[in-house]
Amino acid sequence: MSNVIALTAKSSLVWMMLVVVDVLYERQLIHERTAYHQHQRYRVYDYVVVGAGSAGTIVACRLSAITNATVLLLEAGGPADALINDLPGMADEVMDYDKQFWSYTTEAQVDIVQNKNIVQKAGKILGGGSTVNNMVYIRGSREYYNNLGITGWSYNDLLPYFKLIENNTNPSAAADSTNGPIGVSTINNISWLMDIQQTLNNSGLPIVNLNDDTVYGIAVTPKSYRDCQRQSTVQSYIERNDMCPELDILTKALAVKLLINRTSLAGKPKVYGLEFIKDNTKHTVTVDKEVILSAGAIESPKLLMLSGIGPKQHLDDVGVTPVWSDIPAVGQGYQTHPSVTLDFVGNFTLNKTVANLGSILTNVQQLYEANIRHTGALCDAPAELTIMWNSNLSENNTNYPDIKYQLTASGSQLKIKISVVRCKSTGSIKLRATDPKVPPIVNQNLLKHKDDKLAFLDAIANAFRLVEETPLFGQFTTIKPVQAPGCEYCTNSSIPLHKCSEYHKCIMKMYTTSEYHYVGTCRMSAHNNNTGTENSVVDERLRVRGVHGLRIVDLSIYPDIVNADPNPAALGEFISLNGNDWLAISQNKSIKVKAKVPGSIHSDLRREGILKQDIYIQYNDIEYQWVSLDNWTYVKTFTVDSNILNKKTVNLLAKGIDTVSSIFINNKLIGKTNNQYVRYKFNVKQVLKLGKNTIRVAFQSAPAYVKQQFNDFQQKYNYTIPSVNENNYAFIRKMAASFGWDYGPSFPTQGIWKDIGLEVYDMGIIRDIVVKTTRSMSRWTLNLIVFLELTTPPTDRVLNTKFDISLDENVLISRRKHLLKTNSNGELSVRFEIKIPDTLPIMLWFPNGVANNTQKLYELKVNVSFVDNNNNYEWSSMTKKIGFRTIRLVQKPVKPMGLTFYFEVNDLAVYAKGTNWIPAHNLLDVVTDEYVRHLLVSAKEANMNIMRVWGGGVYETDYLYGLADELGLMIWQDFMFTLSPYPANPEFLETVDLEVRQQVRRIQHHPSIAIWSGNNEIEALRLILFPNQTHLKDDYYRLFVKHIKPIVESEDPSRPFVISSPSNGLQTIKDNYTDTQTNDNRYGDIHFYDYTSPLWDWQVYPSAKFVSEYGFQSYPSLATLSQAFSVNDFTYPLSKAVKRRQRNIYYLNSIEDMISRYFKMPSNGTVNRFNDFLYLSQITQAMALKTETEFYRRNRNIDTETGNGFTMGAMYWQLNDVWQAPTWASIENTGKWKVLHSYAKQFFDNLLVVPYEDNNKLKIALVNDYYQKIDFNLKIKVYKWSQNKPIYELYKLVKSDSFSAKIVYIKPISDLLTESKCMDRNDCLLSIEINNLSYKLQTNNFMLLAEPKNSNLIKPNIKVSDVKKGLNDKTFIISLSSETIAPFVLLDFKLFKNNTQISGQFMQNGFFIFDGQKSIIFKSNQNISEHEIKDQLIVKTVTDVI
Ligand SMILES: Cc1cc2nc3c(=O)[nH]c(=O)nc-3n(C[C@H](O)[C@H](O)[C@H](O)COP(=O)(O)OP(=O)(O)OC[C@H]3O[C@@H](n4cnc5c(N)ncnc54)[C@H](O)[C@@H]3O)c2cc1C
Repeated sequence: MSNVIALTAKSSLVWMMLVVVDVLYERQLIHERTAYHQHQRYRVYDYVVVGAGSAGTIVACRLSAITNATVLLLEAGGPADALINDLPGMADEVMDYDKQFWSYTTEAQVDIVQNKNIVQKAGKILGGGSTVNNMVYIRGSREYYNNLGITGWSYNDLLPYFKLIENNTNPSAAADSTNGPIGVSTINNISWLMDIQQTLNNSGLPIVNLNDDTVYGIAVTPKSYRDCQRQSTVQSYIERNDMCPELDILTKALAVKLLINRTSLAGKPKVYGLEFIKDNTKHTVTVDKEVILSAGAIESPKLLMLSGIGPKQHLDDVGVTPVWSDIPAVGQGYQTHPSVTLDFVGNFTLNKTVANLGSILTNVQQLYEANIRHTGALCDAPAELTIMWNSNLSENNTNYPDIKYQLTASGSQLKIKISVVRCKSTGSIKLRATDPKVPPIVNQNLLKHKDDKLAFLDAIANAFRLVEETPLFGQFTTIKPVQAPGCEYCTNSSIPLHKCSEYHKCIMKMYTTSEYHYVGTCRMSAHNNNTGTENSVVDERLRVRGVHGLRIVDLSIYPDIVNADPNPAALGEFISLNGNDWLAISQNKSIKVKAKVPGSIHSDLRREGILKQDIYIQYNDIEYQWVSLDNWTYVKTFTVDSNILNKKTVNLLAKGIDTVSSIFINNKLIGKTNNQYVRYKFNVKQVLKLGKNTIRVAFQSAPAYVKQQFNDFQQKYNYTIPSVNENNYAFIRKMAASFGWDYGPSFPTQGIWKDIGLEVYDMGIIRDIVVKTTRSMSRWTLNLIVFLELTTPPTDRVLNTKFDISLDENVLISRRKHLLKTNSNGELSVRFEIKIPDTLPIMLWFPNGVANNTQKLYELKVNVSFVDNNNNYEWSSMTKKIGFRTIRLVQKPVKPMGLTFYFEVNDLAVYAKGTNWIPAHNLLDVVTDEYVRHLLVSAKEANMNIMRVWGGGVYETDYLYGLADELGLMIWQDFMFTLSPYPANPEFLETVDLEVRQQVRRIQHHPSIAIWSGNNEIEALRLILFPNQTHLKDDYYRLFVKHIKPIVESEDPSRPFVISSPSNGLQTIKDNYTDTQTNDNRYGDIHFYDYTSPLWDWQVYPSAKFVSEYGFQSYPSLATLSQAFSVNDFTYPLSKAVKRRQRNIYYLNSIEDMISRYFKMPSNGTVNRFNDFLYLSQITQAMALKTETEFYRRNRNIDTETGNGFTMGAMYWQLNDVWQAPTWASIENTGKWKVLHSYAKQFFDNLLVVPYEDNNKLKIALVNDYYQKIDFNLKIKVYKWSQNKPIYELYKLVKSDSFSAKIVYIKPISDLLTESKCMDRNDCLLSIEINNLSYKLQTNNFMLLAEPKNSNLIKPNIKVSDVKKGLNDKTFIISLSSETIAPFVLLDFKLFKNNTQISGQFMQNGFFIFDGQKSIIFKSNQNISEHEIKDQLIVKTVTDVI
């Protein structure tokens, strides 16, 4: 080169450089001006948009441009960089610019070995993702949008908007998508690109336009750039086009919290502004209309949760207060595309420059070309070719591919990026802390779903096939990606590596990462549902549920329905009419109050101050009787839009109405109700109108109705059904105990006690699912009946509808065409028998404490996708948690006569240990899930494995049964009939049939349900009270034997059904229900009560097969009684106010009589003597039930003379209480454990040692409910009351058989006393201890040798020696010392001024202190210090009673 030429070349390079710098400078100026030159001009804006990303920028811009509204756009990042962000060829380089990104280190990804924690990024810059992404611009398949199933979001609905924003220069693009602001281009005429495309086309892949209807095939990738410039939303809308000059923008402003308030108590919370940090200072901005979130699918849910909108439990855990709206779906449903890139090296060199900042800056020519001439290698981004492909998992729907390949070529390399684009795995976003600057917890669950792995593996194998089989690719030297070291291994060495599935699996596991395509965390479902409790966050107009003034517009709203969780579409079909915007009006209209649904009139009147006090205080059960006697009407107005009216089916669905009502919509009677347990459905399509509608539910007083029914019945049928209660509850299908029971008061309330709403659909809906799991050898089969309701059932009975059934996300069924069955009630169903594949190992469900004690539950999802002739889609789905276990009620003959009666679960005999559940309150609406959890967890803590839902209450909530599944509590489920003859006239039978069918279908999938029982104690009553009354006998037979039994047995053949509790089980049936007594110890279950015998003597108790009710009363604690009484009522002898709470005539004196058998009664006095009495009543009760239960537990032998014995179930009456009164409960209505409950923990333990006296002999029984033989050390110690060390000790090695009870020691008591030199029984007592050889299993017990009142007790002088923290902050170990034996030591806390006290559970109470010391665990319900515990603790023993 001559010098002149060289000089010219140099100067032209300098000139080029200057031109480039000038252009870049100009462009940078525009970016900076956009970012900094417009400020926050107003204090109050109509709209504030958070996040200037792909979505937020356009929304903000258009809002400000096409309305007169003032709009502020807030962005956490800053302006784009003209060199890095604008040139398409720099797309890879951008990734190194950390300041332009949010960066998240995800939770460990268990399904991906190498990338345990992977780093995920999102744009933090003006334009968000659109300023930093790879610019690939593909709309997505028509099917994807159609499958969303949401009005306004089908592909055809969205197409005009796609076209509106696009300026697509691809020649094959539709003419009307060429006028929008965002340029979309494809590079063409590059020879190597065309070659590859053609080659793949020759091998069968069609060449397609990826933004058209046919997307399966290969195409040059369309990208959002034009004239060698990235088309970010900011450049396209705000900068270049200046489309929104009135928009105010604040950059580097981090939104940290939505400002929310409530305008009225009843109203929804409203967003009124936003708090943000800019320049390290907190600012607020007020908003008049709405805040619009578009912070992306990770930051939007984070901001919602920081502001108190999200899953309540999680927000409570993190400490976000207040929680404005409990929306469980916030942060859930997270999805992104898993991808892996394979790098192939070839024998070719492509003429393509790779962008590299260093080399580009020195390559002025390239910069000039790109910036001035808009050509050259810097004008295209990676991924030149895209292939959309169907793996063998997609349903051969070629237009809805599930795999995307992106090919990037350079030099002699070809990269193939493989992504699963219809992935099914879902993850979540959760708060890590309340500090907005702390990144959230990102749990991706990449490849968690089996199908994602399978699709991925197929796609990887296919990528190798493409490389191998495509002639052009034949040039590759090696058919293996260069970056997969460590995976190059195939067990079968005859298979080439690239065809080896092991190799593919390894690549998938080691190299999978994710594309940054986050969606789903604030997902949308159809229709507005204001409760905020549904499985979605926004409605189809993107309004956040349960909150006013808030929308979300970014990608977080996309639920990936077909590929992931199709629930939202179905859930959206129930438009709730719940809420506290109802009115309740009395009959004469003198009272009109705001009312809540679900709820009850008593709760409404209490909330609105008409009832001045809690219903359980003092005499309020009498004072407030007027409420139940009035007829109340509930009214609400609601809006109906055309979306609802246009649906082919519109039902009013009331899941529970209490009880007798007439329902009107717009003053037209649409139906009547008279059964609290029935789900009512009325078609209301014709009565609804566009706009405002009114629903009116006019109730009739339950007592009045009962009277009227009684009279009508008598007149019509000429006989009466006698009443066992002041209100004849037999005439109304309503909770019998709401009319009062011997444990509680009468409040027969009125109201809508379960959800009510409009159920709308065009094609169909799943109504119920019945699930049966059966095992043959070790294989499980799932039998499902899916009950459907269809607007138009097919005439040929063949339902061409796709069913997707999965178990824990493993697809079991995914196919169309099913046979539709119709049963005798005209109900339509589809049946499935599904063998659980071997690849899905099943873990068994066991009752609490049985075998390996697992309660594994599986999520069964059934999704039905309807499609009509016009290709409109509709979904309905239902999810149930199920368990796998077998259960049998074993009733086999014993000699000389009788039948066993015990449960066998998973082939293991189980001793049923538990209790009876009564409704947790008279007003069911005030029962919280938290309280139910406390009660059931307490049952589990007391080592129970069964609970009876008693027939005088209600079929319990889904929550309760779900919890029982989780905790391993078997449920003995009564039908709701109790202790009365019932009518059996046709109308009555009709509603009962419906009730029974609906309730069995609702709850039968719960593994906890162990047995169905027709009623409570009516079989017994029939035999005692109406044996000769033919009508009543016939009615009984008709109702229970002819109706309920066959319905239950056909709806759920998998479980036992007994006609009544108690009954003689199979014997009752064999005797055709003519047995002479139900309390036969040889058969079935019995109920046993005794009020007068000495209940600490085991010989009082029956040697039955199974005792499903037994108990004795005690009074609750002073703290609990103080909630209902004033201190003046606390006297001993008992005051009138306290005494009248005794509602069982047999107990009028029996508690005191029983106490006085064992203790000296307290002297007359006020509160302290009253408290002594309460204490003694609880100890007496606990001892009685201890004696009785210990007898039942050890009584496993058959009496060969009578057939009695072999007791296999002990369920005392009753677990819980409704009010403050003497009852049989072991937990008071405040949740406080009585002494009995802590005794139950020991007497229900799997290991139990029982000392007892039999014919002057000491016998020691060892009960071992473990399924293994165990050897134990047995220690017998004799103590004197006056000392704290044993006076005599005896050791013995004893053996126990697996799951057994046997006597391991016998000795005459007199010998023992002589050996121990105890001359007087009144001086001594026994302590028995056992432990296995490793001391892992141990327990103890005590045995009194005389009644405490006759024993020579000495004041033990108990001291609290220490209180220290246990395993966690709320567990404390309280250490006590005593100078002598301290019997029946009660720990309690002092009352604070407001009659509350420290709350929690003492794991032992009413215990003995032997050897001078004892440590007790206290689990506190609140945060509290050791010092406070010590300060507040009260310790009491028998000698303190004066
Ligand atoms: C590296 C990369 C490559 C990609 N490649 C492609 C591709 O080739 N093709 C494709 O289709 N998609 C691609 N994507 C994904 C695509 O860009 C995103 O899906 C899309 O931009 C998401 O749009 P959005 O509006 O939901 O959120 P974003 O565009 O992410 O916008 C959210 C905005 O909100 C801001 N923000 C967040 N929190 C706050 C706060 N508290 N206060 C104020 N502002 C806040 C953010 O800074 C951001 O600007 C890519 C993404 C990345 C990160």
